[in-house]
Amino acid sequence: MSKLLESNALHTAAPAISISHLNHYYGQGALKKQILFDVNLHIDRGEIIIMTGPSGSGKTTLLTLMGSLRSVQEGHLSILGQALHHATKAQMTLARRKIGYIFQAHNLLNFLTAYQNVEMALELQEITAAEADTRIRTVLSAVGLADRMDYYPSDLSGGQKQRVAIARALVSQPKIILADEPTAALDKQSGRDVVEIMEKLAREQGCTILLVTHDNRILDLADRIIYMEDGRLVNHAATAIAQ
Ligand code: ADP
Ligand code: MG
Repeated sequence: MSKLLESNALHTAAPAISISHLNHYYGQGALKKQILFDVNLHIDRGEIIIMTGPSGSGKTTLLTLMGSLRSVQEGHLSILGQALHHATKAQMTLARRKIGYIFQAHNLLNFLTAYQNVEMALELQEITAAEADTRIRTVLSAVGLADRMDYYPSDLSGGQKQRVAIARALVSQPKIILADEPTAALDKQSGRDVVEIMEKLAREQGCTILLVTHDNRILDLADRIIYMEDGRLVNHAATAIAQ
């Protein structure tokens, strides 16, 4: 096997997310405060994981580290086999392109239509305009918005906006989706609908999902539930469900 093939094979075999002995701190000097404590987590490709835990326990901090939106301070963190500890700015940017993000607030641009919001996520991809158009229409149809593509966010419901955000995260066919309380602003039924759509699309694309939620009614959609408390990961599904 050639060196290149070997390294590709290794890369393919690498877990989606691999974290060991991760610590994180905010603040400087006397105000320095530890937020994450010895976090260890391994997520296989294609797994759908739900993370739950009290507000302020460090879930968003952990997600932004995994998403290469924040630099690793202590410990090891690899995404798809690429180390993010000691990563350069350029390496961090490259890593970000492999990840789709969905946030609590949908973060759509109000002056762009649903179609254009999704289109933006394809700007850095090397694909033809025709392929981009096909992908945008396919993904917007998949989230049930075939007849809303030319609507502006102000003319869409909360659930519809969040579905546009999902379409935007999925259109570039990322290997990992990080979703931070994506259903927080939705009623229970649209929250569940949104997560079911995300799960179905991710399973079709072989994508890994890590989803933070407080919503007990969607816990059954996960392969595994992890629980964060006071900056530490506790791997007890029973604890999470009892919450
Ligand atoms: P969660 O998402 O579980 O609610 P966060 O990761 O947002 O938790 O926050 C964890 C802790 O870190 C909280 O005590 C929060 O106040 C603090 N924190 C979050 N972001 C910052 C920041 N940028 N600077 C300082 N402290 C922060
Ligand atoms: Mg949070």
